[in-house]
Amino acid sequence: MNTDDPRLRLLDYLGDAASGIGLFDPDDRLRYANGYMRAAYGIASDAVPSWADMMRNCFHEQVGLLIQTDDIESWLRQIGQRRRQSTLRCFESDLVDGRWMRVTETLHEDGWLLTVVTDVSALKAHESMLQQARDQAVQLAITDPLTGLFNRRHVFARLDALFQQARALRYPLTLAAIDLDHFKHVNDSYGHSVGDQVLVHFAQKFEARRRPQDLVGRIGGEEFLMVLPNTTVQGARQVLARLRQDLADALPAPDHPELRLSFSSGLAQMKPQDVDAAMLYQRADRALYVAKREGRARDLADDAPSPT
Ligand code: GH3
Ligand code: MG
Ligand code: MG
Repeated sequence: MNTDDPRLRLLDYLGDAASGIGLFDPDDRLRYANGYMRAAYGIASDAVPSWADMMRNCFHEQVGLLIQTDDIESWLRQIGQRRRQSTLRCFESDLVDGRWMRVTETLHEDGWLLTVVTDVSALKAHESMLQQARDQAVQLAITDPLTGLFNRRHVFARLDALFQQARALRYPLTLAAIDLDHFKHVNDSYGHSVGDQVLVHFAQKFEARRRPQDLVGRIGGEEFLMVLPNTTVQGARQVLARLRQDLADALPAPDHPELRLSFSSGLAQMKPQDVDAAMLYQRADRALYVAKREGRARDLADDAPSPT
């Protein structure tokens, strides 16, 4: 090697660089490829394949680029259309051995194309780990840990959005504020962990009855909120009646078959006077209070006359 000529030095260094470097001529024949590139794509050290033959070899020998197709020739036509269409192209591709490569192609005016291939597997693994951690953190932030339902903060945030949507699109929206009856008695008589079990039982029943558009969450100790878009008070009563039927047929704590529990609910349907979701919720909560006062185990609508 002529050590005084930096171009020769560079060529020499490219030969054993830790990235793949390849140079295609205007006829798309691979005229130069360093060791890394040849190893990664399964190209013999003396081979000068065309790009298409290089791809065919990857496909037939299951080396280098992972090509998932039944028909390599139509794959080549399809991918070939995108090749050499811009002066700079960056994309990522999978190798058969599981590595993930970032490929940068630079097309020069004279038709020569320089390809640089870098292994980004570690970066990708890190990125997907971060993404998973973020998804998990988001999930935790919106979930009630005991029941797995949405938590109070999330339910009220979503309620605001659903309220605005119902108002804008002019469809009915009804809330059902639900509170278990005499729940304190369960804790006092059976212990806190049976109490927890009962809460989970109710949560599962609520979730099972939730229609796709509905929102259900645990907003307090033994308090739940159902948000029922596109539903009137009458519709909500039907949903709750089905729920009561589900609950009538099931034991809240199988080890204590004598333990039965009801719930009360306060219903409120959105009215033009409701300035925001908080006002609508207040009306549902007030109705719940009346339902409790009037004997529990019942649904009471905010504007319904009290039964005498
Ligand atoms: P009412 O019919 O008037 O609603 O009576 P209640 O006994 O259901 O209502 P109260 O508000 O007096 O009691 C609610 C109880 O719920 C008190 C509290 O200790 C219990 N509680 C709150 N959170 C949890 C929880 O996460 N697990 C358990 N096991 N109990 C809880
Ligand atoms: Mg309560
Ligand atoms: Mg209660």
